[in-house]
Amino acid sequence: MRRTFKYRLYPNREQAEALEYQLSEARSLYNAALQERRDAWRGHGVSRNYYDQANQLKEIRDTGHLDLANYSACQDVLRRVDKTFRAFFRRVKAGEKAGYPRFKGRDRFNSYSFPAWGDGCHITDNDRLRLQGVGIIKLKMHRPITGDIKTLTLKCEAGKWYACFSVVISMDPPAPLPDAIGIDVGLSSFAALSDGELIENPRHYRHGQAALRIAQRRVARRKKGSGGRRKAVRLLQKAHAHIRNQRSDFHHKVSRQIANNYGLVAVEDLNVRGLARGMLAKPVNDAGWGMFLAKLAYKVEETGGQFVQVNPCNTSQVCSGCGCLPDVPKTLADRVHSCPHCGLVVDRDVNAARNILTLGLSVAGPTWHNGACVPAEAVCFS
Ligand SMILES: [Zn+2]
Repeated sequence: MRRTFKYRLYPNREQAEALEYQLSEARSLYNAALQERRDAWRGHGVSRNYYDQANQLKEIRDTGHLDLANYSACQDVLRRVDKTFRAFFRRVKAGEKAGYPRFKGRDRFNSYSFPAWGDGCHITDNDRLRLQGVGIIKLKMHRPITGDIKTLTLKCEAGKWYACFSVVISMDPPAPLPDAIGIDVGLSSFAALSDGELIENPRHYRHGQAALRIAQRRVARRKKGSGGRRKAVRLLQKAHAHIRNQRSDFHHKVSRQIANNYGLVAVEDLNVRGLARGMLAKPVNDAGWGMFLAKLAYKVEETGGQFVQVNPCNTSQVCSGCGCLPDVPKTLADRVHSCPHCGLVVDRDVNAARNILTLGLSVAGPTWHNGACVPAEAVCFS
């Protein structure tokens, strides 16, 4: 299993300058590599790949123009450019909106990596981080790192530096827990569980909105390129980071709770992107279901459970009591599911969560030993 451990760094002023310098060198290399690819194609109709570019690194470094810590850090930047172009070509091929790779401005480039752990970076005996070209940086080791460290990424978020260690954990997953649950993510509450529990939506974004508006106005008022504007941008970034952290904290707590209690977790396979573009955009992004489900998936995996995504088609319409489809479809405004056939009256989203659980059990059926109801028929209600 691949996991990332993130720790706050406390560089002194000189070290912070060195980190910023390395970050800006990485950004210059990124932009230069991007430009070379673009010019080669526009001017001569040739495409440059990663190896073409990596072969030039020695020459560039010999002229003293590239001051990143070491070769592998430079190669990592070029790999990032390569990845960006691959994704671009894939989108072109798939006929999606392609979006040519961007040149990265200061505010769009906030991390660089040491892709080979031990090469230019290591942790000292007293839990500090030694970085080539920067020195020994104080690090808040708020929890121990487990597993084999593979790479290190230095990241600057709203003026604070973080060390992100990507590690490989090899362990035998524990035996799965006996209970199963279905989860419906909705708009009126953050999530509904098939056992009837409704998890309320904290709506951090909305609460933070007032602070964001003020910070955003401050930025807009200040003159482009001025020091005052830079400061205002920093405050705006801070306001965003605060909301982001609150949301992430909430997701971790809820997903931990679920993963610690259930061996099979069924969720809808949502095309969040599709939803997020529509008129429901704000609350959808606010709830951040995609991020939540990702956290839930790996936690369930860690506890030895199964994470099942099911087709959400009709899960909000079908009655979880008798399996009938209503004659008149429920609209978004109907908050209660009340079935004329079997008399079941239950919250609309809880009804959907129960249907999702039923589908999840039918998908996982053969491997699931709970003895719970495993419907034999199809995996989709449509
Ligand atoms: Zn019914």
